[in-house]
Amino acid sequence: MTEEHIQVGGHVSSSGGIYTAIERAQKIEAEALQIFASPPQTWRATNHTPAAITRFREEHAASGIGQVWIHNIYLANLATETPEQLERSVGSVVNALTVADGIGARGVVLHTGSHKGLGLAQFLAQVTNALQQILAQAPGSAVLALETMAGQGGTIGKEFEDLGTLLSKVGSPRLQTCLDTCHTFAAGYDLRTPEGVADTMRAFDGAIGLDHLAVVHANDSKTPLGGLRDRHENIGDGYIGADGFRAIFAHPAFRGKAFLLEVPGLPTDAHPKGDGPDLENVARLKKLRDEAHS
Ligand SMILES: [Zn+2]
Ligand SMILES: [Zn+2]
Repeated sequence: MTEEHIQVGGHVSSSGGIYTAIERAQKIEAEALQIFASPPQTWRATNHTPAAITRFREEHAASGIGQVWIHNIYLANLATETPEQLERSVGSVVNALTVADGIGARGVVLHTGSHKGLGLAQFLAQVTNALQQILAQAPGSAVLALETMAGQGGTIGKEFEDLGTLLSKVGSPRLQTCLDTCHTFAAGYDLRTPEGVADTMRAFDGAIGLDHLAVVHANDSKTPLGGLRDRHENIGDGYIGADGFRAIFAHPAFRGKAFLLEVPGLPTDAHPKGDGPDLENVARLKKLRDEAHS
């Protein structure tokens, strides 16, 4: 695998011990993986024992799997108007970055928060301070990647400019971004054709800088372009479609990145609505990558 090679992976469960994620990722033939460091809908941080952390590192090293990412819990909102919530939000990201450092993950992906339609400007000082505090408190060199968002409920990151502004205010090499294909498309950036992808990544470069793209969430979209709703679809079954993903893979901005699936998964008897990233979605994405690069 070269530096240029795109790793196709997905979000997997780590219930039963953080190291169990490795085996789940192998089962779906993922080349990279993402996990939660704690249940995403609760504030209480999971206590990972030193033995579990060591076992993760050992099994990861033996697995042939590449990049590891942690997704922060969903409750965090750095633009909250409640001081107590802000403190808990900061604590959750520091915890996730600490776990990332422990297991040797590249970094943590964060939904920065929601300004509830009031605009980022109103919360800029607060969010900037919170991000600086997080990076000062978190040990190691794992990066914090702010995720592009669909714009539903005033989420920060609907416009690339939101994230670009935060990166330049904070001014740390550890602060990076995650491009979620579904969110970005729903926010109004076209990803269906080579021309659309070129325009989108030109806008990304202008607002954020291509060198600040750390990782990709690879999800098709159940809502059309500019639909502003965050609804992930299986690869090729949504509005971005197979052609869109081929165009994304072909764009030089994505060389060497991990593409992490967060899709519903194909229905099975046990899981009629799917059970998350599965062998089929990994296979579809690898095939599109290989077609784009052949
Ligand atoms: Zn995502
Ligand atoms: Zn989403």
